[in-house]
Amino acid sequence: MQFACRCGHVIKDQTDGLPYKGWVTRDKHEALMAAASKRIEDFLQATLAGTRHAWVAAHFGEDYARAVTPDEAVIFDLLSTAMDPVRLPLYSCDQCGRLWLRSHNRLLSYLPEDGERGVLDVGPDVPK
Ligand SMILES: [Zn+2]
Repeated sequence: MQFACRCGHVIKDQTDGLPYKGWVTRDKHEALMAAASKRIEDFLQATLAGTRHAWVAAHFGEDYARAVTPDEAVIFDLLSTAMDPVRLPLYSCDQCGRLWLRSHNRLLSYLPEDGERGVLDVGPDVPK
């Protein structure tokens, strides 16, 4: 996806790890994280019991289960899926500093009063 900021700068979201993209997490994520933790535990138990393929197919579909998917990727997808209902993507404009929050398929803009720029960029010290 891409969109034009009010200043004219084009903001693109076509890859991971963008320095101008972040997430806003709603304050109702604890129950979802607990449910995701339980699903991860169920996945690990199914793996130990030798029923991994059936468990993965039941949760992600047969095509996903047929792919050689490492456990790390399955756990990542379980966590990501669990967080989708409570997180909203947030973008900052490199040119004017405006923040754009996407909620219910609408883009809402917020302009910092002090001219701050790059508030979502965590810098080079984040583990990859
Ligand atoms: Zn802008």
